[in-house]
Amino acid sequence: MIDGFKHQGLRKEMIANIRAKGINDAQVLDAMQAIPRHFFLDKAFLEFAYVDKAFPIAAGQTISQPYTVAYQTHLLHVQRGDKILEIGTGSGYQTSVLCAMGAKVFSIERQRELFDKTKKLFELHLPYKPKLFYGDGFKGQIAFAPYDKIIVTCGAPSIPQALLEQLRIGGVLVCPTGVDVQIMTTVIKQSATKYETIELGSFKFVPMLQNKA
Ligand code: SAH
Repeated sequence: MIDGFKHQGLRKEMIANIRAKGINDAQVLDAMQAIPRHFFLDKAFLEFAYVDKAFPIAAGQTISQPYTVAYQTHLLHVQRGDKILEIGTGSGYQTSVLCAMGAKVFSIERQRELFDKTKKLFELHLPYKPKLFYGDGFKGQIAFAPYDKIIVTCGAPSIPQALLEQLRIGGVLVCPTGVDVQIMTTVIKQSATKYETIELGSFKFVPMLQNKA
């Protein structure tokens, strides 16, 4: 896979575009500037990689719109060394942005086809080593809990209880919540039983579904 000057130039434009839409977090924008988004789409769709739109990947799913990735990542306030759980690995692009920011990423995908494809992409073409799981994001991944941050990249009907439990005290969870349209929701865990919830703008995500198995 090649990341040429043309791709890098298109990526600069993509970042300028995200900045113009109001995101100024240099750490997030630097990570997105560093990652060849075209690696995460099939070759035939190269020209779409740097357009600010969601795009179909495999199994009827989409790679999130670049602006949405920047927005959600910014809300997480990633620190180097953070342990982050991601629900919805999809193409692995959001996973890579978090890895590039120095996080240790654990990511769950419920579609076997996508899980296999993205696992291979990391093994063969990317410099990051996230831990990828095939499973149901509603259950989280208890074996590695608690997490400093949790990011859900599909639309959840409500915030899954297991995820709240697996967040460390002081940790931040970002989850688009709702059925047809989702409200971006940030939860800060203040104690074992107390949470501060902040609701932000509305977005459109593919639905978070129970595991097929
Ligand atoms: N972060 C991804 C976004 C992919 S779209 C990217 O950057 O490409 C959301 C993903 O969530 C889809 O791949 C979908 O299969 C997955 N998903 C939906 N419900 C899920 C669940 N219950 N557990 C884990 N993943 C789920």
